[in-house]
Amino acid sequence: MINYTAALTRLVRDIVARVDALSFIDPDEVLVFGRFGRTGACGAFATCHTLGLPTSEPGYFFWRDRETGCVTRRSPWFVTKTPRVVLGGRDIRYLLSFALPRFCDQPFGGTRKELLYPGAPSWVARLDSVVHELYHIDPEQHGLRRMTSHDGAALEGHHSPEFFERVAEFTTCYLESRPPEEIVEFLKYDFDGLVARYGGVAARTFRNYPSYPQRYHEPLDSQPAVAGVRVVPLDARRQPEIYTDADLCLREFHARGSRRVMSPVVIAA
Ligand SMILES: [Zn+2]
Repeated sequence: MINYTAALTRLVRDIVARVDALSFIDPDEVLVFGRFGRTGACGAFATCHTLGLPTSEPGYFFWRDRETGCVTRRSPWFVTKTPRVVLGGRDIRYLLSFALPRFCDQPFGGTRKELLYPGAPSWVARLDSVVHELYHIDPEQHGLRRMTSHDGAALEGHHSPEFFERVAEFTTCYLESRPPEEIVEFLKYDFDGLVARYGGVAARTFRNYPSYPQRYHEPLDSQPAVAGVRVVPLDARRQPEIYTDADLCLREFHARGSRRVMSPVVIAA
C-alpha cells in the first residue's frame, strides 16, 4: 500500500526547496492529511487551511420573526477559536487536505489547466494542485494569501487569472529543476493506477475523521443578560482545543469511502 500523504509531504519539501518563490514556507509547519472525496463529484481536489486565525470578538447568533423583525431566539455569547495542532512539540500553521480518490482522478484534457501546460502529461494537473495549495500560504502573516484583482481590489473566495498563471509558472519551474523520479513518480497514477501499482492507497487522517481541526464556537463563561429572548444552545459538536501526534491515524481509501488501518501494514513509498 502507498502512504499517499507521506508521498505528498516529501513532494512538498522538495517543491519548497526548489522553487525560490515558495522557499519562505517551512515544511515542518505544514501538515498534509486525507479526506474522502468521490471521483467526479463537485468539490475541491485539495484545500489549504490556516491555523493562524486569532480568536474572534464575542458574538452570538440570533433569529428574527420574518413579519415583525423582532429577535425571537438567540444563541449564548461565544467566541470562535482555532484549535492548535502540535506535532513533535511544534505548532503546525497550515493544513493541506487532499480529497481522495478525487484528487488522483482529476481531469486534465479539455480543462482550463491544460491550456496552461501545452503538451504536458496529464499528471502535471496533480502537481499543479499541490503547488496551488502551497501558493495559498501567505508569506507576510499567519493566514491565507489575500486574493486581489489587477487593480488591487480584494477578490473574496475567488482566484484571479494571475493566481493560476503564477501557480503554472512555479509548477513549470519545479519541473525544469528536474526533481528526482522517486519524488514525483506517485503523481503519475490515477487512483486505479495507484491500487494496481502499490496494492492500495492509505492516507493520514485525524482520529475524529471525517472531522479535522476546524474553527469552533466556545461559549463565554459569563453570559451578558438579554431579557425576553429565548436562548438556544450552540451546536454540541465540539472540537478538541489541541490536537497532538496521538490524534493522527492512517486510513485506507477506496472509491466509496475509507477504513481505519488497524494492523501494521507494509507501506511503500
Ligand atoms: Zn485555491
